[in-house]
Amino acid sequence: MSVAEQINYEGLTKDEEVQIFEAIDKWLERDVRPIVKKYDHADKYPHEIVEQMKELGLFGAIIDQKYGGLGMSAATYAKVVMRISEVWMAITGIFNSHLIMATLVQRFGTEEQKQYFLPRFASGELRGGLGLTEPNAGTDLQSIRTKAIKNGDHYIINGSKTWISNGIQGTCFALLTKTNPDISPAHKGMSFFIVEKAEGFTVSKKMEKLGYKSIDSAELVFENFKVPAKNLVCGEEGQGFYQAAGGLEIGRINVAARGVAIASAALKDSVRYSQERQTFGKPIYKHQAIQLKLGDMATKVEAARLLVMQAAEAYDREERCDMEAGMAKYFASEIAVECALEAMRIHGGYGYSKEFDIERYFRDAPLMCIGEGTNEIQRMIIAKQLIARNPI
Ligand SMILES: Cc1cc2nc3c(=O)[nH]c(=O)nc-3n(C[C@H](O)[C@H](O)[C@H](O)COP(=O)(O)OP(=O)(O)OC[C@H]3O[C@@H](n4cnc5c(N)ncnc54)[C@H](O)[C@@H]3O)c2cc1C
Repeated sequence: MSVAEQINYEGLTKDEEVQIFEAIDKWLERDVRPIVKKYDHADKYPHEIVEQMKELGLFGAIIDQKYGGLGMSAATYAKVVMRISEVWMAITGIFNSHLIMATLVQRFGTEEQKQYFLPRFASGELRGGLGLTEPNAGTDLQSIRTKAIKNGDHYIINGSKTWISNGIQGTCFALLTKTNPDISPAHKGMSFFIVEKAEGFTVSKKMEKLGYKSIDSAELVFENFKVPAKNLVCGEEGQGFYQAAGGLEIGRINVAARGVAIASAALKDSVRYSQERQTFGKPIYKHQAIQLKLGDMATKVEAARLLVMQAAEAYDREERCDMEAGMAKYFASEIAVECALEAMRIHGGYGYSKEFDIERYFRDAPLMCIGEGTNEIQRMIIAKQLIARNPI
């Protein structure tokens, strides 16, 4: 194998990748797996896991090495997310939305913004996420109402955000605002700021959820919140909508990887259980009805995994990959829901019990269909790109 083939994008060697995977696998078995059920059922924030994730460098996974990150390619990052999510999907949300914020700075920020924020993001000293959604606007981002109005060398921000992951434990957020609320089309008046919690920025509510426990989702309120103009991403107003679209590709690849992992965990548990559980004098895997489920699940998991890797590799080649990321996110999240339900059927009554992990997969999986752009929207993106790439 040539040296070029051994090096991943961003300069991480295959050996380094293997070392990272080994360290993560060891950590998952030693520190994470034993506590998942207890923390998930209590909806308790895993502070010690966050400290361990800092040590593993996960908060800087896809941040360039020159800014203190690990410099992983999107493909390596997707594999990391799959490994961790097979054990506990929710904790990947603690570093994923943080890394979308970091990606915005890395891709679009000024050099001053990169030098100030990226090393702090990479070490986990500053942690946070992405503030797009508002009570009246999720899919329809151009309808957001949070305003940032320039006042000398500052902007004054008023408005609110909802469903923001890491909203309580995080201290720094990429906030999508309207800097020109009256312009048409509306997307031309949208801008991102990197904001740190301070006077005028409050957490008004913790959101209670079906699944995705232990990670905090919150409503944030901004009242005459003063932000230095130098925190405007790229230093130019009106770029926010375009930047959000750029950040979402990596977010969608990540959600797709989480979907693969939930489906894969449901499959692995089912393969094990179907050999242990006996009915009518034989293990249940010997019944054709169970074999059909296992065959379907295994095929879909592998197909979803390939779609994720295809999208991640296109992202690493810096190709436009909204269609590939959309396909991966759509398919992987739908099969996560399907496989969680099939695993529950295979486990019978035990699948419904809190003693097993299946009920958690079942509660966690549907979020993958909603987050980072709903699956309805993914199919529309795929169709639009199909036409754009195949004009007559
Ligand atoms: C646990 C959790 C964590 C989250 N974390 C974050 C976060 O960290 N940061 C953040 O900014 N947001 C976050 N979100 C918000 C999430 O991104 C939004 O919920 C999502 O984008 C959908 O927006 P909505 O809920 O407003 O639904 P809506 O936009 O109101 O959509 C409702 C329904 O209408 C459909 N729909 C809407 N428009 C169209 C259309 N044009 N054509 C066809 N169908 C359409 C949708 O697909 C959906 O089925 C989180 C949400 C959850 C539940």
